[in-house]
Amino acid sequence: MHTNVNNFDAVIDLSFYWEGDCFKLMGIEQFSRKDVYRMSNHVVLNIEFEYQGQQQVISPVFIQDESDTILVDCGYPEFLPKIEQLAARHHISIASITKIIVTHHDMDHMGSLAALKRAYPEVTVIAHELDAPYIAGKRKSLRLAQVESTWGELSTEDKQGAEQLKRLLQSVEPAPVDQTVRDQERLDFCGGMEIIHTPGHMPGHISLYLPASKTLIAGDAVVIQEGKLAIANPEFTLDLDEAVRSVRRLLAYDIDQLICYHGGLYKGHVKQALQALLQTYES
Ligand SMILES: [Zn+2]
Repeated sequence: MHTNVNNFDAVIDLSFYWEGDCFKLMGIEQFSRKDVYRMSNHVVLNIEFEYQGQQQVISPVFIQDESDTILVDCGYPEFLPKIEQLAARHHISIASITKIIVTHHDMDHMGSLAALKRAYPEVTVIAHELDAPYIAGKRKSLRLAQVESTWGELSTEDKQGAEQLKRLLQSVEPAPVDQTVRDQERLDFCGGMEIIHTPGHMPGHISLYLPASKTLIAGDAVVIQEGKLAIANPEFTLDLDEAVRSVRRLLAYDIDQLICYHGGLYKGHVKQALQALLQTYES
């Protein structure tokens, strides 16, 4: 049986397969199943779509081990079929999801959460304690409040776009959060992961660090724009100073691989890129 374990672009076409409990790469290297999960237990889904006339890509991540399949962020409303399709291409059945970690309350990250939870009620939804009430619809969306607060300053033309955004935000279905997490909390699923509270974009924004593979799943703490790291459009970052401080905190982690929700896998030296980003804000 052929299985794609590491699905990063560069290695996607290599021939991987299991022989008993042994993993073979092009028939040469052999690892135990445990070794393989330790080296790379995550798969980045690059979902391409058109939004307001522009080609866009978002990158939810699957993290797996023998007992868990965890999805980190789940796309806009109506994105469930897209996730299902892409996951299947990576030999992951969406029905096997045990947990969903939502990095923050924004419709491109939790838009399909309610649909997912309806289809798979056993799934545990995990989010930071500060964003959980927004995800669950117990508090008014900060994004919606942001649109409404700028209403008076908008031109008639801009009001049309803002009205459209408002309707879209209002249509996002909330979903209950089953487990809340805090900064530096360690979850022992899938070889272990650490929650890093990275507020700024949203107050309860989190990033995930997977120490075994030195991977950071950044969410929207940093994004990739034209090959460079950036802080998500300040228009959508509720507290820019806080967002800069969050980037600084990421430097404390030994990161080999950085995955951004907007931009996917960063190709370059992560620490240098984070430092360069900070310099643009601190000089
Ligand atoms: Zn986003």
